[in-house]
Amino acid sequence: MITAVYDTKPYDREHLQRASANRDVEWRFLEFRLTRETAPLAQGAHAVCVFVNDQLDRRCLEVLAAQGVKLVALRCTGFNNVDVAAAKALNLVVTRVPVYSPYAVAEHAVALLLTLNRKIHRAYSRVRELNFSLNGLEGFDLHGKTAGIVGTGKIGRIVAQILRGFGMKVLAYDPFPNRDWAAEQGIEYVDASSLAGFSDVLSLHIPLTPQTHHIIRAEILDLVKPGAILINVSRGALIDTKALIEALKTGRLGGVALDVYEEEEGVFFEDLSGQVLQDDDLARLLTFPNVLITAHQAFLTREALADIAGTTVANINALAQGTAFVEGSILT
Ligand code: NAD
Repeated sequence: MITAVYDTKPYDREHLQRASANRDVEWRFLEFRLTRETAPLAQGAHAVCVFVNDQLDRRCLEVLAAQGVKLVALRCTGFNNVDVAAAKALNLVVTRVPVYSPYAVAEHAVALLLTLNRKIHRAYSRVRELNFSLNGLEGFDLHGKTAGIVGTGKIGRIVAQILRGFGMKVLAYDPFPNRDWAAEQGIEYVDASSLAGFSDVLSLHIPLTPQTHHIIRAEILDLVKPGAILINVSRGALIDTKALIEALKTGRLGGVALDVYEEEEGVFFEDLSGQVLQDDDLARLLTFPNVLITAHQAFLTREALADIAGTTVANINALAQGTAFVEGSILT
């Protein structure tokens, strides 16, 4: 089964090769992203394997289908970058990885929170320059503060539980609340504006959909408790970046930690250190001392990568053998 892997990084190659030992998969590793322009390079492949910033619009999918590609295997959970209706119409099977270590993503959200609040990123740089001053490094105790979790799915629930472990009061908002879990964990569901108004820490754990696009925008930022910390490890476009920059400039927000960014495509995952950054909003965000950005690395643990590769290989194998795809992974 020839599989063209787009946007391949060394860790993808390592884990996919390990998961496919003794399986009938022939990898064609490509380092560039899949777009309508690069789709012809899947020529001869039965399947393509793609990630979060590949662009699977209708035209791209048409090119893949015309070349005989049968399967689009996403090596991620979110699928906002795929025109699923077009894929269905073209008889392309689209699969994703429905579950992989949610601990990887949840723990990264908490790592960002602790780093930002206790200013570890600034302390690390200072100490390496033999600057042992503590001025400006004051944080606050998480114990006794209130966290607001937006979205109590697999990842949001783990973040909530970790923060309960710190002795935080945890509020949550989700249109499909999990009340038994909340009662067990001592967590309270509230409406969205109460969540914004009462939380010292707000963390987003929802998918990007037309309904959630810019769910954090100027009107919501006006409701947020002054000095609150906002964490987003979900999808960049959940936040209106320009409104976020305004809220940071006025000092309304205490800090922002992002693992995802609205315009991350073509920037995150790349080494641009020798180039001029063209994105003025990202450049502005990077000037704030209370903004911490990682480049979409929340999934990057050994366990999560092994889960992702295992599901991806199992789905390619299912196509080859005509057997069932991994439960919950099929989108078309
Ligand atoms: P999940 O499907 O288990 O949970 C999502 C939850 O969001 C559900 O409970 C749903 O009811 C809720 N929800 C939907 N719309 C909402 C809204 N408007 N307001 C509040 N809640 C809403 O998903 P998950 O596995 O917890 O993942 C959450 C998101 O994390 C994914 O969609 C993905 O975008 C992101 N993610 C990021 C990384 C990373 O590396 N940064 C890795 C994996 C997942």
